[in-house]
Amino acid sequence: MVDTGKIKRKKGGAEENVSKASCVVEYNRGIGGVDRQDQFLACFPLTRRCVKGYKKMFFYILNIAIYNAYDLYFKLPNSTKRSIVNFRLNIAEDMLCNLSLSNYPTHGRPSQNKWQTRLQAKHSAHFPEHIPSTNKKEHPAKRCHVCVKNNIRSETTWQCKNCLVSLHIPKCFEMFHTLEYY
Ligand SMILES: [Zn+2]
Ligand SMILES: [Zn+2]
Repeated sequence: MVDTGKIKRKKGGAEENVSKASCVVEYNRGIGGVDRQDQFLACFPLTRRCVKGYKKMFFYILNIAIYNAYDLYFKLPNSTKRSIVNFRLNIAEDMLCNLSLSNYPTHGRPSQNKWQTRLQAKHSAHFPEHIPSTNKKEHPAKRCHVCVKNNIRSETTWQCKNCLVSLHIPKCFEMFHTLEYY
């Protein structure tokens, strides 16, 4: 037991030095940061929704990393004060500039967010191109994959650069890349 330096007043005016187990005093002094982190993370229970153990671990570590980044951010000389909620939102919005999340609802600042998804195609590009010319034909045409499935005989000079499947643009091209049936 160690003396905490605090004094407890008893009934009748008597005073008593407050002592605590040294492990408790050390815990309160040294581990406050971890406790504070637990308190913050409890507000964002990302791990609750996952069934798979490794996903829980991933989100737990991610959560801690975000909190540590938040804590370090305020050690920067020019950091502006903001809540951890806004800090997390800022991270999410910045990631959206590069990650693919279709139909993500953006809040406020529409002019700034308008082109946020512009570069999404960069990561999983399916672009149309002309079917390359052969010795026999300069502008070869092939039967459209989508039209064939719908029993329509129709040819196209376009194909998907990625899938190398001949498709009409824009309609059949869009259907092929958005509907499960094809
Ligand atoms: Zn077609
Ligand atoms: Zn494709």
